[in-house]
Amino acid sequence: MLSRARIATRTGADGVVETAVLALETLAGQLGVPVTSLGSVGVGVPGLVDPEHGVLVHAVNLQVGEEGLALAERLQARCGLPVRVENDVNAAAFGAATCLGLLDVDLAYLSVGTGLAAGLVLGGRLRRGARATAGEIGHVPVDPAGPVCACGQRGCLETVASGAAIATAWPVESDAVPAAEALFRAADAGDATAVVVRDRVADHLAAAVRLLVLTVDVDLVVLGGGVAEVGEPLCRAVAAALARQGEGSPFLRALDLPDRVALAGPGPVAAVGAAALGYLAASS
Ligand SMILES: [Zn+2]
Repeated sequence: MLSRARIATRTGADGVVETAVLALETLAGQLGVPVTSLGSVGVGVPGLVDPEHGVLVHAVNLQVGEEGLALAERLQARCGLPVRVENDVNAAAFGAATCLGLLDVDLAYLSVGTGLAAGLVLGGRLRRGARATAGEIGHVPVDPAGPVCACGQRGCLETVASGAAIATAWPVESDAVPAAEALFRAADAGDATAVVVRDRVADHLAAAVRLLVLTVDVDLVVLGGGVAEVGEPLCRAVAAALARQGEGSPFLRALDLPDRVALAGPGPVAAVGAAALGYLAASS
């Protein structure tokens, strides 16, 4: 990594394009080179992405609806460089596989942020699915009596095992310590309620890992996203939940699930993945 910048996203189609242009100008400025010398651009963005045409739709948080945004085309027109656009979780999955040197195995990246979703890198290639929804396991309902999800279903995995779900179950008064961090600290300190909440979250995340392995039989499930900043304690809790769930099942035990969970580690894997995908697309 030669340069990095963190910029607040402006919403709406024009806002997203302007933010991306500002990011490129900032990066080029830090390196003391013109934007045109950057070579290629890769963008990781939340929402439904058609990477072939670089079009973004249904990015609710960015206020881009079904009218869509031709992000690759518009950004290319502004910066004069080839642009590749990818869903942010997919970009992070590819970035994690790249950073961990695991492009030769099958890997799932489980993003536990405000929401919950997975990206699949199988044999070094992103698997997006027929309609770019492969890995959207956050919307697999797991509790018929659970809360209504933003997607309209009830009791989705995302409503019980995401950063937002943790913040609801373990509210924190200040923004200084994220809810997940506060929950794990309290549980480690012996708070009985925190232990119950932590173990329930870990159980649901373990269910997500099991779902990924039983569907695609990936070698490894890498935990990433804001909640994964908890680090080793999160990884240990999920591995322990998998071990507990395997106690009554020789079938599950034979899959060695606790050993197949890892952390993406520090660093902006989504940005690295997007940059790598941009580079690969431009040089193919
Ligand atoms: Zn849902």
